[in-house]
Amino acid sequence: MEKINLKGLWLEELEELLGKSGEKKYKSRQIAKWIYNKGVRSFEQMTDISRELRRKLSEIAYIDRLQLVKKKTSQIDKTEKFLFKLFDGKNIETVLMRDKERVTVCVSTQVGCALHCIFCATGKMGYERNLSAGEIVDQIICVKEHLEENEKITNVVIMGMGEPLLNYDNTIKAIKIIRSELGLSISAKKITLSTAGIVPGIYRLAEEGLKIKLALSLNAPSDGLRKKFMPVAKKYPLLKILEALKYYARINDVRITFEYILIRDINDSEEQAKDLAKLVRGIPCKINLIPYNPIRNCPFKKPDEETLLKFRDILYPRAPAVTLRKSKGEDIQAACGQLKGDM
Ligand code: SF4
Repeated sequence: MEKINLKGLWLEELEELLGKSGEKKYKSRQIAKWIYNKGVRSFEQMTDISRELRRKLSEIAYIDRLQLVKKKTSQIDKTEKFLFKLFDGKNIETVLMRDKERVTVCVSTQVGCALHCIFCATGKMGYERNLSAGEIVDQIICVKEHLEENEKITNVVIMGMGEPLLNYDNTIKAIKIIRSELGLSISAKKITLSTAGIVPGIYRLAEEGLKIKLALSLNAPSDGLRKKFMPVAKKYPLLKILEALKYYARINDVRITFEYILIRDINDSEEQAKDLAKLVRGIPCKINLIPYNPIRNCPFKKPDEETLLKFRDILYPRAPAVTLRKSKGEDIQAACGQLKGDM
């Protein structure tokens, strides 16, 4: 009989497995805690579980683990980028960012991405496959082992390789594990999922009751311009996306984050700043302005400092909250849109 990988199974599935082996279901909670909260690699380490159950488990199951291939550290801001190999030989990247008290892990949800945004290195890879819930969660468990003494992960952003709402079920299960006290124990308020604007996925997510934060990768104040560098905009117009976001904000009582990558002479004019402010009017939100991070084979450039500041100053206070973000890990290609699974 083929052994089952426990990494990625959540309580109901663990209960089912235990039930089939004639064990009490409540033990699923102990096992989940060992796998996700304590991040153990073997059944031997589960010391509060009987020897007999550990033996049974090792006969029918195993705990998979991502393999760390390479790690790079930014000389500028201590951002770290991890290259992990999956069981089938494919690679993904995960990023650890530090900002004062905040320690954030940016996780991937797919190998590659089908959406082909032209400013994004992942988009240039094309889509290879979805990650399992275990592979999503394991990125955090593995990164945890590389923290400095007294450091702990405070935030998780689901913004790495892939469109999370196109790997819906596995992403939702991973979020449940990340939020749970038996899992990574990170509160919903500290988890942000970023989408390119998959409208049905936004409505579905709103109904899950997870209350995590939601970000839209917006990047243009009009459909015309957005379609030029985000092909998904042809399927989901801004009007529909904004309706879905308002619904999400209302149902979950959260602010929406709009991410706007600023590209020189493309979307950084004063007019576009005003249009952007108009677009988000009436939505409880904040806008993150992100200066474009160069990638290979893409002609775009970052706007100069003066343009960046002017854009921000037009936007605020027309829009309720605006941050001009500093790119993290730019020198190691760990910044937004630079992940491509082969460092
Ligand atoms: S920006 Fe996000 S949605 Fe667009 S191609 Fe890159 S990973 Fe996919």
